[in-house]
Amino acid sequence: MNPLHRQHNHFLIQWLILAMALLLLGIAVGYDLYQERGRVERREHDRLLATSRVIQENVEQNLASINRVLADLRKEAATAPVGAKFNERLVTLTEAMPSVRTLLLLDRAGTVRAASRPELVGSTAEFSRRDYFRTPQQHPNPDTLFVSPPFRTVLGVFAITVTRMVPGPRGEFAGVITATLDPQYFDPLLDSVRYAPDMATSLHHGDGVVFAHAPRQQGAVIGKNLDQPGSFFRRHRESGQAASVFAGTVLATGQERMIAQRNVQPAELNMDKPLGVAVSRLLDDIYAPWRHDFQMKAAGFVLGALVIGLGLYAYQRRLRQFVLQEAAAADALKASERFMKMVADNIPGMVGYWTSELRCAFANSAYLEWFGKTTEQMRGITIQELMGEQLFRQNEPYIRAALRGERQDFERTLTKADGSTGYTWAQYVPDIEGGRVKGFFVLVSDISRLKRVEMDLVASEANLKAIIETEPECVKLLAPDGTLLQINRAGLDMIEAESEEQVIGAHVADLVVPEHRDAFNKLNERVARGETGSLEFEIVGLKGRRCWLDTHAVPMRDAHGRITSLLGVTRDVTEHKKAQQELERLSQIDALTGLSNRRHFMTLAEQELARALRYGGALSVFMMDIDHFKAVNDTYGHQTGDLVLQKLGSLCREALREFDSVGRIGGEEFAVILPQTDGPRALEVAERLRQAVARTEIALERGLPLQFTLSIGVTTLAGGGGANIDTLLGQADSALYEAKRSGRNRVCVYGAALETAETTV
Ligand code: GH3
Ligand code: MG
Ligand code: MG
Repeated sequence: MNPLHRQHNHFLIQWLILAMALLLLGIAVGYDLYQERGRVERREHDRLLATSRVIQENVEQNLASINRVLADLRKEAATAPVGAKFNERLVTLTEAMPSVRTLLLLDRAGTVRAASRPELVGSTAEFSRRDYFRTPQQHPNPDTLFVSPPFRTVLGVFAITVTRMVPGPRGEFAGVITATLDPQYFDPLLDSVRYAPDMATSLHHGDGVVFAHAPRQQGAVIGKNLDQPGSFFRRHRESGQAASVFAGTVLATGQERMIAQRNVQPAELNMDKPLGVAVSRLLDDIYAPWRHDFQMKAAGFVLGALVIGLGLYAYQRRLRQFVLQEAAAADALKASERFMKMVADNIPGMVGYWTSELRCAFANSAYLEWFGKTTEQMRGITIQELMGEQLFRQNEPYIRAALRGERQDFERTLTKADGSTGYTWAQYVPDIEGGRVKGFFVLVSDISRLKRVEMDLVASEANLKAIIETEPECVKLLAPDGTLLQINRAGLDMIEAESEEQVIGAHVADLVVPEHRDAFNKLNERVARGETGSLEFEIVGLKGRRCWLDTHAVPMRDAHGRITSLLGVTRDVTEHKKAQQELERLSQIDALTGLSNRRHFMTLAEQELARALRYGGALSVFMMDIDHFKAVNDTYGHQTGDLVLQKLGSLCREALREFDSVGRIGGEEFAVILPQTDGPRALEVAERLRQAVARTEIALERGLPLQFTLSIGVTTLAGGGGANIDTLLGQADSALYEAKRSGRNRVCVYGAALETAETTV
C-alpha cells in the first residue's frame, strides 16, 4: 500500500479518536453544566421559598396582632358603651400599629359607631355597601376573620381590610369591627427581602388582586388581577399546595421568571380568604452566572478542541511532509539502488559483497550466472556453501586477509556451473568503517578470453621462435643505433659466433668489410627513419671467414607506431656471388683461348685509354692476325686450327705483362692494349711476341710439327687529346694491313717509315 495512503488511514483514526475524546469531554462538561444548572435552579428555588416564607411570617404576625386587637376591641365594645373614650382608643391603636390605617366599628345598619378617624363617626350608607360589611352580614360567623379584596378607598389609595363580625346577644350579626391595612406598610418589607435587582416580591389577595409590590417602579402591577387562565397564580391555586415554585412566562409581561408563591392563611386566624405572597426572579438573571460559566466552559472547550485539533492537524501535516520526504528519499534511494544494481549488473564481471560473517549481502547478475544461482538462493548464503569446500580452502587465505583489512588481488582457474573452465582475476576490497572491517567487496573479472589470447600468444610466440630458430636465414633485430638485440641460430652461424651472449650488444657494422661499412650504416639509418631496404655486403666472420650477405631490413614499431628496432633477414649469398662472378668472368673471356672477348676487351681498352688520357702516360695498341690461317684449317682441319688459336693465346699471356690486356676480337684476329708503353717499347714487345710465335711448334698426331706466324700492327697514343679507342684500333689495323702487305710475319708501326718499322725474319 502507498505509504501516504496508509498514513491517511492513521490520520483518520486519529481524528476519530480526537472527535470521540472531545465528544466524551463535551458530554462530561455538558453533564456537569446540566447538573450545575439543576443546582442553580434548586438553590434559587429554595431561596425564593425561604424569602417568601419570611414575607409570609411577617404578614401572618401582622395579621395575628391585628386580629388580636380586633378581638379585644369587639369585647370592649360589647361590655362597655361605645363613646369618645373608645374612639380615642382606636386612634391610639391605629397610631401604634403602622400597618393599620383606619379602625372602624359599624353597627348592624352599617353606621359608623366608632372610628380612628373621628370625622367618620355617624356616617352611614357608604359603608353598608362595602364588601367587608356585606360579607359578614351575609355569612355571619364571629370566629371568622374576613379579608376583603383590595379596593380603592375614599382617600384614593388601595387597601384591604380585615374584619371581624360583632355578634349580638344571640350571636346574630350586629355589626363589624374592621381594620384597613395600608399596603405601603409592606413596601419596606417586600423591598428588604429582595436580594437581586431583578427580584420582584408581591402580596395579593386570595382572589388574585395584587395590593403590594416591590420594586416600587413596577407599581402598575398593583390592582391587577392575577386570576387569569394559565397564570402562575392559577397554577398555584390549582396545585392545592400552601407553597409552590414554578418557572415560565409571566402572562402580563412576557418575562421568563421563577416564582415562589405562598398562602398566608394561618389556621388560628380562621381567615375566610387567604392572602398570597409571590417572590420571583428573572430566569435570565438566575442563570446568568451559570450561563457565564457555561459560556466560559464552552469557549474553553471549543478553544481547547480547536487547539488540539490544530495541534493534530499540524502534527499530521508535519508527519505527512515527513512521510512525503521519506517516500521521496526512499524513491531516490530505490532509484539509486536500481541504478547501482544496473551498473553492477552491466559490469562485465562479478560484483559481490560478503559480510564479516561471510554471508552474501549482494551479488550482481554475472556473479549469479557464474555460480548458477538465483537471487533468492544467493541471499544470505555462506561463502563456504557457495564456493564449495575445495575452492573455499583455496581462497581462504585471501578471504582472511581481506577480513583483516588487506586488499587482495589474485588469479584463479575455476570450473563454471556449466562445467567449462574459466579464468578469473579476483580482487577482494575490504569495507572498513571506523577501523572495523564490515565485510569486503568481491570484484571478479572473467579473463578467460584474455587468458586464451594470452595462451595463444605464448603458443604463437613459441611457434614463431621455433620457426625463427630453425629458419636457415639469419633473422636479427638491431637497435636503431645499430647494436645487436637478438639473433637466431642461423645468424650466429653466419657470423661464426658460439652464442648469443658473445654478440648481443655488439655493433654489427664492425663485422662488415670496410668497403661496405658505409653502405651498411646508411641502410640502417634509412630503416631507422621508417624506410625498408636491402643490401648486399661482405663481412668477415669472427673466425675470419669472408662471406657475402644479402639483407632485407624493415623497421619494427611498437603499439604507438614508434620505431623500436630494425628487423633484418639476411642470407648468405657467397656461393651465389661466386657463381655470378664466374658467369661474369665467362661472359668476358673467349672460351677457346681464355683471352678477353671482343666486348670485354673494348671495355678494358676504353678504361685504359681514359686512364691514360686523365693521368697522362703512354699507351700502345696492337692488332694481330695469324698468317695464312685459312691454309692451316684447310690442311690440318678446323680442330687443329683451334689448337693454333689456343697456342697463340698462351703465347700472348706469356709474352705480355699482367696489366696488358689481350682480346680475341675476331676469328683469328687479336688486339692488345699496353698501358704505360711508348712506341719503341711497344715495338720491342711486339717483336718479341712475333718471334715467340714463329719459334713455336705444335706437335701433331701425325707428321711434322706445325708452325705458324703472326703479323702485328702497332700504334701508340700520340700525346694530345682527341684520341678514341676506335681510332687507335683503326691505326693499329692499318699497320697490320701494312705488315700483311709487305710479306707477313712482321711488325709494322703506324705512321712510321716502312723501312724502319718493319722487321724481317
Ligand atoms: P692472311 O695471311 O692474308 O691472313 O691469310 P689467311 O688465310 O689467314 O686469311 P684470313 O686471315 O682472311 O683467313 C681467315 C680464316 O681463318 C678463315 C677461317 O676459316 C679461319 N678461321 C677463322 N676463325 C677460325 C676458328 O675459330 N678456327 C679455325 N680452325 N679456323 C678459323
Ligand atoms: Mg684474318
Ligand atoms: Mg690471317
